[in-house]
Amino acid sequence: MKSVMIDELAWTEYRSRVEDERQTILIPLGSLEQHGPHMSMNPDVIIPTRISAAVAQNISALVAPAFAYGAKSQQKSGGGNHMCGTTSLDGHTLSLALKDVLKEFGRHGVRRIAVINGHYENMPFATEGIELAIQELQWSGVDNFQVIILSYWDFVTQDTIKKVFPEEFAGWDVEHGGVLETSLMLHLKPELVDMSKAPLQKPATFPPYTLFPPIPEWTPASGCLSSPANATAEKGKLLFDVTVTGISTTLKQETSWQQTWKKFL
Ligand SMILES: [Zn+2]
Repeated sequence: MKSVMIDELAWTEYRSRVEDERQTILIPLGSLEQHGPHMSMNPDVIIPTRISAAVAQNISALVAPAFAYGAKSQQKSGGGNHMCGTTSLDGHTLSLALKDVLKEFGRHGVRRIAVINGHYENMPFATEGIELAIQELQWSGVDNFQVIILSYWDFVTQDTIKKVFPEEFAGWDVEHGGVLETSLMLHLKPELVDMSKAPLQKPATFPPYTLFPPIPEWTPASGCLSSPANATAEKGKLLFDVTVTGISTTLKQETSWQQTWKKFL
């Protein structure tokens, strides 16, 4: 089977794929960020990349190389950028880097991109990059360039949340290094997880404001914002399957929506 990863294709093969304007390209958006003492620092790259590859198989899309660095970790969602190992871009650097990549795909003839985000803090800066790319492509006469952006955890259904968090679900913002990401990594890359080092702790609580520079003591010493102790590979498979199904369905619907819309032009 031909790879869905565009960097593994010859340029001539890639060119023949993107000649069709309906060809969707998925861009996984990650970060290099500490995720607790029990896990590698790359779940925000691995998870959206593997989800993207599975979605691409379902909808005949292609997957671009992931962004391996992301926007700065924030204390209340990722432990904070003061943590050792966490290596981030300034927000506007991410916006401009994503804008450049989108415009390059536009130059190749690509007209449909899905940005698959795996790092909470990327969202506003990625959004800015998308808006700038669309604006600049419009200035150069490309007026049918369309981008969807989503974070994969928003495709976890209530039903799956009940199965994965039978005790209590504290919310996606404190899931950093918790059951969600750890379960997905146990399913996708178990060799990068050591559950004997999984910290036992209550979900982190923060005041209703953010302080700069951060007070390091606000972040739990482990770097996790909730305990990953209840993570399992089985939960990871459930989470993976539900997000792949949800994202595949959405991207398919979005394609037909665009075609329907085009008929009225
Ligand atoms: Zn993460």
